[in-house]
Amino acid sequence: MSSDRSPENWKARAASLSLPQQAYIGGRFVDTADEALFESRNPANGQLNTKVAACSAEDVNRAVLAARQAFAAKTWAGRKPQYRRAMLLKLADAMEAAKDELALLETLDVGKPIRFAQDDVKGAIATFRYYAEAVDKVYGEIGPTGDQDLSLILREPLGVVAAIVPWNFPLLMAAWKVAPALAMGNAVILKPAEQSPLSALKLAELVAQVGIPDGIFNVLPGFGEAVGKPLALHMDVNALAFTGSTEVGKLILQYAGQSNMKRVSLECGGKSPHILMADCPDLDAAINSAATAIFYNQGEVCTAGSRLFVQESLREAALEKLQAATRYWQPGDPLLPDTTFGSLVDETQMQRVLGYIEQGQREQASLLTGGRRVLEETGGFYVEPTVFDRVSQQATLAREEIFGPVLSVIGFEDINEALHLANDSIYGLAAGVWTSDLSTAMRMARGLEAGLIWVNGWDADNITVPFGGYKQSGIGRDRSLHALEKYSEMKSVWMRL
Ligand code: ADP
Repeated sequence: MSSDRSPENWKARAASLSLPQQAYIGGRFVDTADEALFESRNPANGQLNTKVAACSAEDVNRAVLAARQAFAAKTWAGRKPQYRRAMLLKLADAMEAAKDELALLETLDVGKPIRFAQDDVKGAIATFRYYAEAVDKVYGEIGPTGDQDLSLILREPLGVVAAIVPWNFPLLMAAWKVAPALAMGNAVILKPAEQSPLSALKLAELVAQVGIPDGIFNVLPGFGEAVGKPLALHMDVNALAFTGSTEVGKLILQYAGQSNMKRVSLECGGKSPHILMADCPDLDAAINSAATAIFYNQGEVCTAGSRLFVQESLREAALEKLQAATRYWQPGDPLLPDTTFGSLVDETQMQRVLGYIEQGQREQASLLTGGRRVLEETGGFYVEPTVFDRVSQQATLAREEIFGPVLSVIGFEDINEALHLANDSIYGLAAGVWTSDLSTAMRMARGLEAGLIWVNGWDADNITVPFGGYKQSGIGRDRSLHALEKYSEMKSVWMRL
């Protein structure tokens, strides 16, 4: 019997999908003001998926107006929390019913293996369910102001929230922002990355299908300068949640300052250190985890463990195992159910990654494995999983975020040196350490400058635990109930009794 995961099945389904194209503004699918389009291409073969509405500042104005009117009409925040909970749960159910289609759209847009795209969709659905359930279970506060006064600490929605998301986990990153923002009662405008508009537009279809009021959710596909910038500069957008590069994150802060001081939260780049102490409890597990940390999603992950620090006494054994572990990550057609490693998102990203590999060789790092473009005959943008050894701390490879499948191995002598090297970065998103000693684990966990620390594992992950960075990796946290704080304003009320 052919299962849903058979190769023919995914390819056949991909070929027969009807792909979304128009922007979603004020509860309707619409052409852009100037009817402009841009191409969505499949990076695994270079072929055109479809043409999608390329929004502009005029469409931003239309969407902000629609969102503002919907918010003011109290069709969402003005209803009982149980209503918003029920609608968001309905949306999660609709996503569940469309889960294969959503996964296919992710793979067609960004080249990630379908098996992992399915996991992303599951994560996005879980995110909507989590925040739906929070709507009628999170209580306000009463201040300890004595019995002559009653002080209430209220959380109110902000109004219009914009979310600008990247292409590496298009639906999941959107869900991390859209779900808590809607749960808190805001009207939301989502701008997907230009490389990956399709799943956001499908989400809009589902929003329309379940009957979330018009204008409460809007999607503006298009380019960063054309859509993201006017959103971030808009005087009537109350908050902006961004995931993307540190470079653009800094621009978003400037735009907020130049306009209305909108609340900004940023989840930006990383150069995460993964540290193997000599007393690592399970070297095989640690090395498999190190390979997953950099090769999962082709290394296009902001938390990618791109710097592997190995204590000198482990070095030889670790490198041998690393070469073996890398073989699991074989580039292949992302629509085949067993493929673990797909194509990079587009030609620009591939050239960027190949440029870093050349730079590594120029800087005298020793190439242990990989390093080449492969499967060129497919028309896709595949780069082999690549490992460099003996990377110096000053080398470009050790300092810049590559956002691709390139691992730098760096040796160290003791815990002090490990901490120093690991923290010697402008970034601070995630870090990991493997050790059998609880004191070492805790010293590392305290000493590492990162928002997420993994001990004896990498990438343990779910919606209940906050996610975000120290230093230039960002401001604020996604996930968990803490994320609700970003999408609400705190109001203190004193009542004299
Ligand atoms: P990456 O380098 O991973 O593509 P970017 O930071 O360039 O990351 O993009 C992340 C998101 O930010 C995308 O949706 C992109 O369109 C958007 N973006 C890019 N430039 C700007 C800008 N100047 N203003 C607002 N948004 C932007």
